Amino acid sequence: MSLYETAKNQWRRAAELIELEPWIAMILSEPKNEIRVNFPVLMDDGQYRLFKGYRVQHNNILGPYKGGIRYHPQVDIDEVKALASWMAFKCALTDLPLGGAKGGVEMNPKEHSQNELMRITRRFTHALGENIGPDYDIPAPDVGTNAQTMVWMMDTHINSTSAHDRFAMRGVVTGKTLSSGGSLGRDKATAQGTVYALESWAERNGFEFDGATFVVQGFGNAGSWTARLLCRKGAKLLAASNSRGAVYNEKGIDPDELLAYLGAHKDPAGFTGAESIPDKQLWQIKADILVPAALESQIDINNVGDIDVKVIAEAANGPTSPAADEVLREREIAVIPDILCNAGGVIVSYFEWVQNRKYERWELEEVDRKLRRLMTAAYDAVEEAGKRFSLGHDTRTAAYLVALERMQRAYRDRGIFP
Ligand code: NAD
Repeated sequence: MSLYETAKNQWRRAAELIELEPWIAMILSEPKNEIRVNFPVLMDDGQYRLFKGYRVQHNNILGPYKGGIRYHPQVDIDEVKALASWMAFKCALTDLPLGGAKGGVEMNPKEHSQNELMRITRRFTHALGENIGPDYDIPAPDVGTNAQTMVWMMDTHINSTSAHDRFAMRGVVTGKTLSSGGSLGRDKATAQGTVYALESWAERNGFEFDGATFVVQGFGNAGSWTARLLCRKGAKLLAASNSRGAVYNEKGIDPDELLAYLGAHKDPAGFTGAESIPDKQLWQIKADILVPAALESQIDINNVGDIDVKVIAEAANGPTSPAADEVLREREIAVIPDILCNAGGVIVSYFEWVQNRKYERWELEEVDRKLRRLMTAAYDAVEEAGKRFSLGHDTRTAAYLVALERMQRAYRDRGIFP
């Protein structure tokens, strides 16, 4: 099954339960716009190379399209469609006045110099042209992109508009550096949201973070920040991995030291604070919390049986295959589903966008307080929907229920033009 079909199946069950009107289901079953661009870029060796990029705008009934940009060799239209639809449901679930989109370029950012990455980003932004804009579609970082990528996108976009509109255009992307209009707290936002969601779960389940154990797959932005924030709460990181390898230490890994090591060496093998283990072994480690924070379909039918944790916090988008999802429900392992668990990223992106529009800068304390409020409200809404429909451990369907009810309300109010 394609990833996009998987994404559609995730919300179909919720659609049946709330008897979503067929015309709304029909609209939501396909993205509004699928943009493909092929663009040439000058490489450092003087040769030109053609790159393929995508932007899929799934839905904007609740507000401007919003979603990340991914640089990865496996980026394709199917993956971007799935990610765009998850963004639309995530924004609806967290009650943001935003729609959903996603984009990407099919390439390996690790194979390019900073100069090449800058030229790729600028040409991609130029190729997207008026398909993005602060009132229309607002990209953000995702796998393989970061604050620097966003600043290049912003700079390219504002240089293509009138000098009078330059500062009004800063909100064309979020996740920027602080010096270029970014928000305090955006770097850790996805992880901070994951931790707030885990706190809600812990409260219901009498769970203490102090002394608890956890495992993280994917030690990038979402994963490494989640590890640092959980360790600050007294939890112990038993194992972590990135695309090159995995490491384990039953006494606990210092996430700051691992991050510093990866900054210099990329591959975790050789890190003296832990021993190297085969990637597959990561799933077999008994812990309290498992945080998949890498890519889609990582927890599948082959490894789900090995998982021995109390809760899975889906910091990544789509990390669990449908078959594995069913097994987790049967085994009564709690899952904080992706569209809830990793919503902190888009929530603080929304805060950045609001600050840009109002020419304001919020204190970190204010950002965190507002983020906690929205994450807690979304968690409570999912819990309430789950109870209302007796969904038991099926928190994913409960999350889609909340999102679909909000979208249905908006469609019913507005109807279809003409
Ligand atoms: P990132 O590029 O900063 O980090 C990704 C990490 O995953 C890297 O360390 C990479 O080496 C690792 N990885 C890739 N393949 C792996 C594999 N097979 N096994 C183990 N590790 C692997 O990306 P990110 O922004 O942290 O995104 C991670 C996930 O979180 C994605 O699913 C993304 O869509 C989701 N997410 C990110 C944000 C955000 O604000 N950055 C927001 C919401 C959701």
